Amino acid sequence: MSQARVKELAIIGAGIAGVSAAIYAKRSGLEFDIFESKALGGQLLLMENIDNYAGIPAGTKGFELSEALSRNLSGLDIEPINQEILSIKIDKDLIWLKSQENNYTYKTLIIATGATFRRLDVPGESQLTGKGVSYCAVCDGFFFKGKTVAVIGGGNTAAEEALYLSDVAEKVFLVHRRDQLRALGYLQKEIFAKKNIEIIFGHVVEKVNGTTKVDSLILSNIKNGEKKPLSLQGVFIAIGITPATSLFSGLLDLDDSGFILTDEFLQTSSPLIWACGDCRKRPLKQLITAASEGAIASLSVYKHLRGHYISA
Ligand code: NAP
Repeated sequence: MSQARVKELAIIGAGIAGVSAAIYAKRSGLEFDIFESKALGGQLLLMENIDNYAGIPAGTKGFELSEALSRNLSGLDIEPINQEILSIKIDKDLIWLKSQENNYTYKTLIIATGATFRRLDVPGESQLTGKGVSYCAVCDGFFFKGKTVAVIGGGNTAAEEALYLSDVAEKVFLVHRRDQLRALGYLQKEIFAKKNIEIIFGHVVEKVNGTTKVDSLILSNIKNGEKKPLSLQGVFIAIGITPATSLFSGLLDLDDSGFILTDEFLQTSSPLIWACGDCRKRPLKQLITAASEGAIASLSVYKHLRGHYISA
């Protein structure tokens, strides 16, 4: 195992926040590495249409934007290091990262590790994941052509998944625990206009049934506890996200859900570490805000290292 020399900055994560941080770091002349253990693009790869990003035509596919990010990086001669960072420590005013393959040392760190799907944690969910339980309509919707499925959740993701599935499946139930959706108005309008989407308000999933494949859900009415079965072949769980921050627990201040706490310049509780995108506690989890946070984090690191902002 070799010991790499000290560079100015490491970025962990190459979703839209991390790539944006890398673009700004490169153009600022910072010496840095960007690590991504999975596919470049992060959650973008799971999105169907991008309809609300200024300057990008509505209907652009998530994978198309992710390919554009890849071209951004190669155009700037930035090659992500495809390794998972397994541990991190701060010592002697330096950041020490360790992967399976190598040890690395940096002066600063930007965390852009994003988030993963939140699980329902009900019986049957784990056993039937990949056998009818899914967390991504764009990835798995195809398998439910002409079938009956349910989407669980009432937020933007649940609404988008239900709309996507309504063009593939014969029937889509949208199961939400309250009597009002949380999703944006324009999405709600589209949902209500779809003939093959039926909303079941006021219910939660108590159990996912099936032996080799999902065959039904047991729903529970939150007001009176009454149970009812719902026959279907697929269930798409869209109940929010969990930050990918377990690596930083004990090292940085996190909120109760594990999101990294930062100040307005995106600095964490460590003077050497910044965070951007869905891994940090923030009110507006949007692609465009994640991209802008990547830029802010990079410019904040630049100021920390050079003593002034790049435009000063
Ligand atoms: P979200 O906005 O947090 O919504 C999660 C939904 O799941 C809520 O309706 C919540 O119910 C429900 N829920 C949570 N835990 C549950 C449980 N244990 N059982 C049943 N239901 C449960 O999550 P999201 O929709 O994944 O979106 C994440 C972030 O990305 C949000 O900030 C969202 O705005 C953003 N996003 C934006 C777009 C867009 O702008 N086009 C698209 C996708 C995501 P309650 O409503 O009762 O809390």
